[in-house]
Amino acid sequence: MKIITIVGARPQFIKAAVVSRAFANQRSDVQELIVHTGQHYDANMSDVFFDELDIPRPKHHLGIGGGTHGQNTGRMIEKIEALLLTEQPDWMLVYGDTDSTLAGALAACKLHVPVAHVEAGLRSYNRRMPEEINRLLTDHVASLLLVPSERARCNLHNEGISGPKVQVVGDVMYDAALYYLKKARRPTVPVLDNLVENEFVLCTIHRAENTDDVTRLTNILSGLAALPTAVILPLHPRTRARMTSSGIEFPANVRVIEPVGYLEMVWLEAHCRLVLTDSGGVQKEAYFHGKPCITLRDETEWVELVEIGANCIVGASAAALEAAYERMLSGHISTTVQPYGKGRAAELVVKAL
Ligand code: UDP
Repeated sequence: MKIITIVGARPQFIKAAVVSRAFANQRSDVQELIVHTGQHYDANMSDVFFDELDIPRPKHHLGIGGGTHGQNTGRMIEKIEALLLTEQPDWMLVYGDTDSTLAGALAACKLHVPVAHVEAGLRSYNRRMPEEINRLLTDHVASLLLVPSERARCNLHNEGISGPKVQVVGDVMYDAALYYLKKARRPTVPVLDNLVENEFVLCTIHRAENTDDVTRLTNILSGLAALPTAVILPLHPRTRARMTSSGIEFPANVRVIEPVGYLEMVWLEAHCRLVLTDSGGVQKEAYFHGKPCITLRDETEWVELVEIGANCIVGASAAALEAAYERMLSGHISTTVQPYGKGRAAELVVKAL
């Protein structure tokens, strides 16, 4: 069996790492060709993950990044279509909700190559998010929908997608969190030299709704400034570019570092007091490592975590952020409820394919 896997952005490298390892361990008869679209291209947003996580080198690198959504998606479809015609795979495997996901799905389905979507069924019900459009369209053309949770299965059912092509496998990011915790390492940047374990907040901000809106970004930074603790902020290139162009400054308690590799990120997540984020993946990882999470968005796809009190939504309000900080720290996070499977999702993805 020949599978083409499309990756392009940071979270996809992490998801693909565990599934590729499962292919290698379980099915030597499967030939997996990794295609990197180039959506994330900085060394610390791409190469570091291939180096640290033992992901097989991409067979093809399309070098498409830096454009608008339309430019990127269109150019990716064109190149992926040509590759599919040459490689003639049995499956197209796509992850998550980026432009690379949608381009892979559209190119494949029109050539009648079946599409398998890992992390299918998630919904924010906010169609202003590019990610929501990407996941909706991908789910509607996929032949195999590998969903991380019961909730995701219900979301698909409500859209008329059901039956054996929908399989609840759990979350491959939980597999990754468990596997790489053993290899996690403390970042060695000088600004973190005197960092005290369990006494800092870890923050990530990169979602377009926050970076493209100066008022929201400024409000979030005011909220960070009011926290009585150091905030470690591995800064996404998009956020850095926006802050520079808008002349926004960082509060004194915020220690900005370059984006870190996954092994360092896992260390920060496992040793912080609390996580503040607008990332999808980081919300869950906070829970996997037993840390409370405050989400800097107006909604989340990972509603289970809000329901069990592990996560709360504050949007971009400084006052709501400050109030949530004390509240979330005084709560207890139990990780005995595990809505995202048992850490065997990658194995189940391989089995389903
Ligand atoms: N991540 C990382 N280094 C960083 C920030 C994030 O390795 O400096 C990881 C994080 O642990 C998670 C993934 O990147 O596994 C999340 O990616 P991102 O927040 O970019 O995307 P999203 O999950 O929102 O789609």
